[in-house]
Parts: sequence; C-alpha cells; structure tokens
Amino acid sequence: MSDKKSATIAVRTGITTDSQHHAVVPPLYLSTNYEFPEFGAVPKYDYARGGNPTRALLESALADLENGAGAVVTNCGMSAINLLLALLSPDDLIVAPHDCYGGTYRLFDSRAKKGAFKVLFVDQNDAQALEAALLQKPKLVWVETPSNPLLRVVDVAAICKQAHAADAWVGVDNTFLSPVLQQPLNLGADFVVHSTTKFINGHSDTVGGVVVAKEVELYEELKWWGNCIGATGNAFDSYMTLRGLRTLGARMRMHEENSGAILEFLKQEPLVSVIYHPSLPAHPGHEIAKKQQAGFGGMLSFELKGDESELKLFLASLKLFTLAESLGGVESLVTHPGSMTHRAMSDEAQAEAGIAATLLRLSIGLEDKADLIADLKQAFDIVRESQQ
Ligand SMILES: *Cc1c(COP(=O)(O)O)cnc(C)c1O
Repeated sequence: MSDKKSATIAVRTGITTDSQHHAVVPPLYLSTNYEFPEFGAVPKYDYARGGNPTRALLESALADLENGAGAVVTNCGMSAINLLLALLSPDDLIVAPHDCYGGTYRLFDSRAKKGAFKVLFVDQNDAQALEAALLQKPKLVWVETPSNPLLRVVDVAAICKQAHAADAWVGVDNTFLSPVLQQPLNLGADFVVHSTTKFINGHSDTVGGVVVAKEVELYEELKWWGNCIGATGNAFDSYMTLRGLRTLGARMRMHEENSGAILEFLKQEPLVSVIYHPSLPAHPGHEIAKKQQAGFGGMLSFELKGDESELKLFLASLKLFTLAESLGGVESLVTHPGSMTHRAMSDEAQAEAGIAATLLRLSIGLEDKADLIADLKQAFDIVRESQQ
C-alpha cells in the first residue's frame, strides 16, 4: 500500500533501490536462477518462474496503483484472466457480461464446455437479468467497464454490493481506463485485471497482464497458482512495462485532452451519425461514469453515415490513424470492430450487441490534436466529395 498519488507511484517505484551500484533506475535481472547461500537456505528468489526482482517491482507498482494487497504479473492479459480462473472449481458459476472482450468470452465459454466451471452471460445493466443470475449463487461476477467497443458503463460499487450479498467475488477488467482513471478495488471489487499490453505499457511493444487482489490470502493463492501453471511474465517485458508505466499519469491526461478535442470535432461532423462516449450527457452510463471514473479515457466509437464503400474510402483516406487492432498506445488507431476485433461474432450477434456495420472505434494517441483532427477532416471531406 502507498499513500502517494498514482503519478508519483508510477514514476518512483524502484527508483534508487539498487544497493550494489546505486543506479537511479533499477536494473533488469535476466538470470533464470539464483544461488542458494548454503545448503537448505532458500533465497528470496530461486527460479524466475516463481519470482524475479524486475517483475516484482512492476507487481509492487501495480498493486500500489490499484490499492491491492499484491499483484501477479503474467505473460499477457488473457493469462491474467486464466490465472484467476484457477481459483474456481467445476461447480462454481461465473456471471459475466454479454458484451465482454471477445478473448474473455472465448476463454470462459471454452473452459466451461470442458467442465472447469459454469458460466452465465448476462446484460449487467438489465437489473432483472442480473438479479436472476445472482440467485444462482455465482462464485465470481466478472465486470468490464467501460466495455468494448460501445463503452457501456457498469456501476461497480452497486454490483459489488449485490454480488457480495450473494457471497460472490467481483473481478473487474480495468484495461480501458487504467488505475489512473478508475480503481475498482476502492469501489469494492476483490480482483482487478489488466491487459498491460494497452495503456499500462502504452507503447505497443509488449504483451502482458496482471491480476491484483485486494486481500493478501487471495493474492498468495494467485501467486502460488501463477508459478504452478506457469502464467508469470518474463523479466524483459516486465522491465519494458515498468518503463512505460512511469509516464502513465502524463499519458492518460493527454489521451483525455486529445479525445475531448476529437469528440468536439466529431459532434459537428455531418457524416457522423452516433458517437459512443461516456462523457456525453446522452450516454446511458454518463452519471455512473462521472461518479466512479476520474476521467473518460482515450477511447471513443462512432458510426459513419454511409455504406460499406464509403467506410472503406474513409479508412483508406486516413493518414495518421492506423487501421489496427489493440489500443492504449501513444499512436492513434482506428478499428472496425465488425471485421476486426469482433469478427468471430455472427452478423446477428453483432447486431444484437449493437455493433453497427459502420461502427468505428478510435484509440486516441498522443500526436498533436490539431493534426489528428485535420486527418479525420480530410478523410470525411473525401467521402463527402465522393457522394456528390
Ligand atoms: C486486450 C484485452 C484483453 C486481453 O489482453 P492480451 O494482453 O491481449 O492477452 C483483455 N481485456 C481487454 C479489455 C482487452 O482490451
């Protein structure tokens, strides 16, 4: 636990802790194994799957940032979620959102089909459906807020209260906001998970994950399982992620500033039919987001007014926004969920989830906002000209 603000924790973790050479920035420990001082004396670190000093610094930073008892850094976001599943037994039920991250849906569904546990996907904003699901006494309620790609918001404090009354744990995937903008453990959750691949590393050059537990007993259990199943992250990626993490506070502020400017631009663009962003008063999750988030983050989605050929023309005309999956890096990205991140869903399932054919998701990076807006504007203008 730390009494410091998040930007300070992110910058300072591990700084000037090198007792050998007094390096300001902590060194990278690549060694697989560590010498036993004598027969029978197990050192703090013995083998890198179970523990590594570089990974431990990143774990300490992330546990402090999320205000948890401890963190286990894993080799990707999916393995962080999979590690949490190690705590469940075949009779246990997971209640998960119907619009969760595609990889999470696939993991829950596939493991449940193998009998590892049971899973129920519900619309967590449907009070009756949620209540009915909680009557089935789940072991774990999974929450993802804001959701991908429509940025639907779930009231974390309220769902924690309901889930705890039903004796369930609550795990929150906090990837979209980072601990700088949302701290689920402080809202009552038992676990927080991140794909550190996204905002936490922030430079699109590592794949990683983390589970943070609020209680020390559950942290110890996760740490044990992390070593048992081999889910832990490697030293080099931990070093890179800790390096990226140091600027998290500054980056999130600028993601937010750029997103606000782009939102204002999109609001007056006639070729934009709908914008999905929790900062908009018309967004159904606006009030909850204002209450539980310290900001609105760097993601937004909108629907282009047009057909498929106009959508293609718009995407081909963008010069700064890169057409790619993933999010949370310094570079701005545009994703077409229908054919990219959510292509495993049938057209009907997409329609049911509200993913329109011309829906585009933006991950707003840290380029100058004037250049980003100019890029969007010239692409809209090209589409406009093609319509005349
Ligand atoms: C990317 C992502 C994951 C999976 O993380 P990986 O690092 O790709 O394994 C999980 N949840 C959310 C919300 C994500 O965006």
